[in-house]
Amino acid sequence: MQQSNYIIEVNNVSKQFEDGKFALDNVSLSIRKGEFVTILGPSGCGKTTLLRCIAGFQVASSGDVLLNGEDITQIPPYKRPVNTVFQKYALFPHLNVFDNVAFGLKLKKFDRTTITQKVKSALKTVGMTDYEYRDVDSLSGGQQQRVAIARAIVNQPEVLLLDEPLAALDLKMRKDMQIELKEMHKKLGITFIYVTHDQEEALTLSDRVVVMSEGKIQQIGTPSEVYNEPVNCFVADFIGESNILNGVMLEDRRVRFCEHEFDCVDTGFGENVPVDVVVRPEDWYIFDASDAAQLTGIVQSCIFKGVHYEMAVLTPNGYEFMVQDYHAFEPGREVGLLVKPEDIQVMKKERLCNTFEGEILAGNKVCFLDADWDIPGQVAQQFEVGTKVQVTVGFNRITLEDHEEDGLLTGVVHFILYKGDHYHLTVRTDDGEDLFVDTRDVWDDGDRVGIVISPDNIHVSPISSEK
Ligand code: ATP
Repeated sequence: MQQSNYIIEVNNVSKQFEDGKFALDNVSLSIRKGEFVTILGPSGCGKTTLLRCIAGFQVASSGDVLLNGEDITQIPPYKRPVNTVFQKYALFPHLNVFDNVAFGLKLKKFDRTTITQKVKSALKTVGMTDYEYRDVDSLSGGQQQRVAIARAIVNQPEVLLLDEPLAALDLKMRKDMQIELKEMHKKLGITFIYVTHDQEEALTLSDRVVVMSEGKIQQIGTPSEVYNEPVNCFVADFIGESNILNGVMLEDRRVRFCEHEFDCVDTGFGENVPVDVVVRPEDWYIFDASDAAQLTGIVQSCIFKGVHYEMAVLTPNGYEFMVQDYHAFEPGREVGLLVKPEDIQVMKKERLCNTFEGEILAGNKVCFLDADWDIPGQVAQQFEVGTKVQVTVGFNRITLEDHEEDGLLTGVVHFILYKGDHYHLTVRTDDGEDLFVDTRDVWDDGDRVGIVISPDNIHVSPISSEK
């Protein structure tokens, strides 16, 4: 039989529910034996669905899941050498600790001596040796979760799946359990696949982190890779604190942002190419304004965060940076900022403007996003009615209105990215289409808006293949 280097392989898996929504969209992921892999992402991004496809509680709509090189996509959960620990411990309240852990072994008809030996060993691993005959109801949340883990590992699974197992615990208990889980992983030597929305937990625990958003994998990497080299704005924003800015890659190792040119270490973007730039708050050097400064600014706020101070610094040209330092610079103080070339992370822009497919209608209109938009007569007249066209609209050419009825379309603010001197918003229309808007106005996630685009800001061009 062909030996696979991976214990779990998820190949092009999509999962579509009855309502037509894709919870997973062409996800591929390979996990090595003994790895601790964390699936990280905001609520609703598809983490649990991915875990359930691996466990067998969900069947992928397309794609396949392999275990040790063998296709298990259609194999039911109880036939997979995989156990799951859930956020809610799901212990049997009428059984004591021992019987909870022994439950699966009894079903498998192990003899009494083997069961006792396996249960004691599992309880020892989770630090619950003296609790065998306790009622599970009398245990704290943390202790119940240990019993749930013991119940999973007693079956000696090849893979342990953990779905936000620490989410119900208080912060102190969560931190302690994180350390214990890491030690357990080392001791057991089995593969852990862990789901969380807590980025700090993911960075602390994992060999590799899988960052997900909206059913898609955004990045797979070691904790330091996803932190130091995020591949896009979503990852940079989701993991840790970031200053994310629009920039222009002037040439190899030279980038311009915040109206200043910086040396950097990135190459291969081309010349004069728009990019996104990330500088972590701890990577700015902050000092009293001097000639050494690349940027200067005035401190707007200074908050003590326990170990460091977090300061907002506003440059004369209107960019606001978050800066962290062990020293406090009080509000009102003029400061200089400097960042080393290797601490500037340059990323390819995912898009440069909104692009839609449209159709020219009679009466100087174009239909896109399921709405009929006015365009200038001299533009419409260049096309026959019924012509399919490409429509582009600049990010800063869309106006959002408080009063939904003022817009031709309505939608909801879905994702907000602060880019130093403006916000880059994702607005999801009521038909589920996304458009991207640059604005200085402050909106909240979930705000309902009317969408206005003036005729002059709608650019229509022939679809390239039809030229
Ligand atoms: P959370 O952190 O909130 O648990 P998640 O990242 O684990 O979120 P999933 O539970 O995988 O997300 O859900 C992904 C998407 O699929 C969500 O939009 C969810 O509403 C949807 N979904 C999940 N299960 C079903 C189902 N049985 N039927 C319909 N939609 C579902």
